[in-house]
Amino acid sequence: MDCLFCKITAGEIPADIVYQDDELLAFRDLSPQAPSHILIIPRKHIATLNDAGDEDTALLGRLMRTASMLAAEAGCAEEGYRVVMNCNAGAGQTVFHIHLHMLCGRPLHWPPG
Ligand code: AMP
Ligand code: ZN
Repeated sequence: MDCLFCKITAGEIPADIVYQDDELLAFRDLSPQAPSHILIIPRKHIATLNDAGDEDTALLGRLMRTASMLAAEAGCAEEGYRVVMNCNAGAGQTVFHIHLHMLCGRPLHWPPG
């Protein structure tokens, strides 16, 4: 399958991995939009949030819990952090393997662009 993030999970493309287990992988964004910008992905290929099913509910929860763990590790738990998942091109999704962005380390304004 020609999927960039599947290639990262397979170790075929290098990434700055900060966390991994049997279900998830987290690595630094190549083009960071904040001092700490980490992507958390499932090893399982799911193209968009629209493609996640009931069987993926726990996995989606694990993405969120891992984001909060990594935000705490980055020292951002108290000052605040943002988690974002873009769904489809109109929302800015460019890699079609779901990923949760965790951003922190600077003031984050609302609404996002
Ligand atoms: P999105 O626009 O929500 O689909 O996010 C895709 C993210 O993947 C962007 O923030 C990119 O900077 C990031 N990205 C693309 N290629 C890589 C890569 N090889 N390693 C790490 N991050 C990447
Ligand atoms: Zn994939």
